[in-house]
Amino acid sequence: MPELPEVEALAQDLSQRLRDRAIVRVDVVAFSCLKTFDPPVTALSGALVDGVTRHGKFLDIEASGLHLVLHLAKAGWVRWRDEAPDSPPRPSSKSPLAARVVLSPAPDADVGPALDITEAGTRKSLALYVVRRPSDVEGIARLGPDPLADDFDIDVLARILEDNGRAQLKGVLRAQSNIAGIGNAYSDEVLHAARMSPFKPASTLTSGELETLYDAIRSVLGDAVRRSTGLAASQLKGEKKSNLAVHGRTGQACPVCGDTVREVSFADSSLQYCPTCQTGGKPLADRRMSKLLK
Ligand SMILES: [Zn+2]
Repeated sequence: MPELPEVEALAQDLSQRLRDRAIVRVDVVAFSCLKTFDPPVTALSGALVDGVTRHGKFLDIEASGLHLVLHLAKAGWVRWRDEAPDSPPRPSSKSPLAARVVLSPAPDADVGPALDITEAGTRKSLALYVVRRPSDVEGIARLGPDPLADDFDIDVLARILEDNGRAQLKGVLRAQSNIAGIGNAYSDEVLHAARMSPFKPASTLTSGELETLYDAIRSVLGDAVRRSTGLAASQLKGEKKSNLAVHGRTGQACPVCGDTVREVSFADSSLQYCPTCQTGGKPLADRRMSKLLK
């Protein structure tokens, strides 16, 4: 799932590719992904792209006063095509194509490029919105502060943790209404960098721990953005994967201490952590397993 650093890099890459081009039309292939009806998708035809930005994990293509907003969810991605295919795409259960944004050709070309929005797998959760203001998308209106913004200082983080009481850090970091853009992967990475248990209650951090967590959030995300910037969409997934320390690395060696990375599974996700770095060497109880054993 793309999170803040990948979506930021996508926004920068797409901004360069799309800016000052006209949208010829948007072909929606998987109708279930389109979450709005007013303005209609056809209102984007002829609109000139002003730029592409990010709100949390949402991508926002602004064109002539309208916004085409995308949430790539778990398995969504974008693919750039230098030349749009001749015929409009047809819905097919086998194709991952959810929508295609056809763009105007350069002055010296006959055929314009296209941006394909795809979703792999069967769990359809990719979302597209056409809105007049980004905040018309409920998920954007509810976003907490952006952790890389200048005004995200240590006091902002302290308040967020305080407000969440005894809720576990893992869940607090992932909740988009607390902090925008951190998902399952980077919450694992931040907690590993901060050497904290994912289950530590948010309101119990000392001032030293608060500082450590703040620094981990800024450095883990900041470094990932720096590594991702300038990469094309096709390169971003590999770049993310090769730099994760614990997330998705169950059974492998922690790059810091060499201990084996462990996992705790939940109904629809799992977290990874290093016992030596994060939990005083003690493995966390796998809640799913302990429930079964009761
Ligand atoms: Zn370790």
